[in-house]
Order: sequence, then structure tokens, then C-alpha cells
Amino acid sequence: MLCHNITEENGILHFAGYNTAVLAEKYGTPVYLMDEERIRENCRTFTSAFNRYFHTPVKALYASKACCIKALYPIIEEEGLGIDVVSCGEIHTACSAGYPLQEAFFHSNNKTDADIAYAMEHEIGTFVVDSKEEADVIEAQAEKLGKIQNILLRITPGIDPHTYEEVNTGMVDSKFGTAIETGQADQLVQYVLSLSHIQLLGFHCHVGSQVFDEDVLEKATQVMLGFISHIRKKLQFEASVLDIGGGFGVRYTESDPIVDLDARIHSIADVFYSTCEKQQIPCPKLYMEPGRSIVADAGMTLYTVGSIKQTPGYRNYVSVDGGMSDNPRYALYRSAYTCLPAGKTKEGRNMKAHLVGRCCESGDIIQPDVLLPSSTQRGDVVAVCTTGAYNYSMALHYNMLPTPPVVLLSKTGDRPIVAKESFDDLIRNQL
Ligand SMILES: *Cc1c(COP(=O)(O)O)cnc(C)c1O
Repeated sequence: MLCHNITEENGILHFAGYNTAVLAEKYGTPVYLMDEERIRENCRTFTSAFNRYFHTPVKALYASKACCIKALYPIIEEEGLGIDVVSCGEIHTACSAGYPLQEAFFHSNNKTDADIAYAMEHEIGTFVVDSKEEADVIEAQAEKLGKIQNILLRITPGIDPHTYEEVNTGMVDSKFGTAIETGQADQLVQYVLSLSHIQLLGFHCHVGSQVFDEDVLEKATQVMLGFISHIRKKLQFEASVLDIGGGFGVRYTESDPIVDLDARIHSIADVFYSTCEKQQIPCPKLYMEPGRSIVADAGMTLYTVGSIKQTPGYRNYVSVDGGMSDNPRYALYRSAYTCLPAGKTKEGRNMKAHLVGRCCESGDIIQPDVLLPSSTQRGDVVAVCTTGAYNYSMALHYNMLPTPPVVLLSKTGDRPIVAKESFDDLIRNQL
């Protein structure tokens, strides 16, 4: 199986030890399931690798955008992770969950003046500043509030992570960050150092998402430490923080490589210490920002099959009661998913079909060429694995389809952490 939290018992798919048929019956479909233990295990993979391979401060920040739900923040906090946020909506969610925002880093390539004011009123720990204009607004706001705001600068290291173009963010020609290559990063550092209400702690980069290449984060670490050393010589500024972003790849199908996160972190640690030594710089505090690798394989979506269309000589279509409205990732990136029958797991999977949603859009495909039992019929439940990241958080209201509920599966029981949206919820803001 794709992940050890997926098993089969008596012809029925189990997730996190729970019978999916029972969950589908209890909560209705579509429904997002989240496995609390798996989230904790994923957090601990980072924290225990940090303990093993690092002897200087290092911390993981959970990237909220992967799945931003109030009930997840106490889990993240208990596991000792900080967080990233990218909008006031995410700040509000974390804040409502009682998460200490001192531990939060605020990203985004375009924070509005209102965003900056809101984040500072909520005493966000650190801004990750993307441009000079943003630094100016933070400086002015900090002066008004009579405080000094901690920031990092987002730098573009110019590394190709070999991932989808839409999630490739570390190249010079990117809307994110300021390039080292063009000398603009140097200028921005110099400028920010001249501001009196901003405290520059160090630098951030994020080269992309769903990165499988073994050495991408290592390369980013090297380039960024080189930059820190360069700035130290040129501007006598000693960075105390380096944040190398997230992007660890996740296994969506059996043909994806198995990602050995512990080994990856080990190799990043080796490169980190050897480069600090080579560059003769003190080791900065290191941050990593996993999002997907914390929550993706902790998630599963259940759907109920509706119509099955078999046209002789053409492909088959199996339609389910959700679609791009709860999982737009195939439509956006052609993302691969493993789709499994939730019942009939003992039957052969002899029918090949496009698993499609119910939205009025031909591109509303959850996954093409899925294998299902040929006895699949209306009312059967189908599971899509590894939907914990960028599914609930990317859900849309196209066709006025309510966002499905999210159910947290824990050792102590199952409970909804996001209620099923009602039709009234859909029109709440319509005047
Ligand atoms: C999206 C993002 C992350 C998380 O990426 P994952 O691929 O989910 O690990 C981390 N940092 C920044 C700045 C991001 O934009």
C-alpha cells in the first residue's frame, strides 16, 4: 500500500484503522478524512532527524497553506513546530486556534498595506519580506507602533527544482523574491539595514514544491550560505537565521519514489555544516518549511459513485459526488493520485475509467485511467489517497457545491473538525 495508514480488511478499505464504509455512512460523502497520528508522525520525522543530525538550533515551520484548519494548530504546536502563514485569513485561523503568533513567519509576494498592519497588530513574529516596497510599509508601520519588527528577506537562489512550472519558485525569473544573480539582493539587504524599525535576522528561500531531486535543498543551502558569507564580507552583516523553505516531495502513486525524509535531512545537515565551515561563517539558526510532507499522506477523500458511462469504443467515465471543487489539483497541475475502491477490495480491478467530478467542466477530472472493479455501480464508495495537502485548502465553490466536511481520525475517536457547509453557508455573504 501507498502508506502504512491504508489497509484492507474483509474486502473493505481502512484508513488510520477506521473502516471507510462506516465513515462514509456516518458522515456522508464527499468527505475529507485526516489521520491525526500520521500528522504527528510526520512532524516527528523532522524533529527526531533534527535531534540526530544537528547540534545547532534548527526548527520546522508548518506551511499553513497546505491545510489551514483551526484544529490542526494545537497538534502542530504540541509537536514543537512553528508555522508559516501567507494571508490574514491564515493568521486569523491560527490566532483563533490560540496559536502563539510569535512563532509565525508571514510570507507572500504581495502583502497589502492592510495585511501588514493586521499582522503587526497581531504581533506576528517574523515577516518574510519580498520587496523594497514591502520593507518601506513595514518600517512605517513599526515606527507608528513604536516597535522593531523582525524580518527575513526572501532571496531567489536561481535553482531549478525540476518540478511543475506552476510550483517552481526559486528561479531568477520568478514572481517571488529578489535575485542574487542580478545584484538586486545585495542592494535590498543594504537598504533594509539602513531602516531603523526593522531588524533583519537573515534570509529565506523556497525553491519549489513536490521536489524529488535529491540535492535541490542541499544546493539551495549552499547557495544561501554562500550569499550569507558574501554579505558578511561586503556589508558586515552577520545573518543569524537561514530559512531554506519547504517542498519535500510526497508519494502520491506507487510509481513515485519513496521519500526518505530522515536521509534527506541528514544530507542537508551535512551540507549545512560543511558549507558553514568552508565559508568560515558562524552557523545560522536553520529553518525548514514543510507543508505537504506534514499533511498530504494524513488525508484521504471519500466519494460516492453516481453515473457510470461506458461508450463502446471510447473510454469509460465514473462520476462521483465531488470533483475539482474539493480537489482541483489534476485540473491545475495534472497531479497524479491513487484512487481505490473503498469496498470490493477483494475483486479484481478490471475496469479502466476516468474518475470525474460533478462540475460542469470537461476538465473536472480527479484522475484519468483509474482501475476499478468491473462491478462498480452507483452507490459504491471510492477513495482518493493522499489528499491531506492542497485539497481542502484549494477547495472552490464552483457550481455552488458546498465544501465537504473534514473528519479527524484519532486514537480516541473520530470527530468533524470542519462542519459540512450548508446551502445557507453558500449564500451567507450574498446581499
Ligand atoms: C508552499 C510553501 C512552503 C511549503 O511547501 P510544501 O511543498 O508544501 O512543503 C514552504 N514555504 C513557502 C514559502 C511556500 O510558499
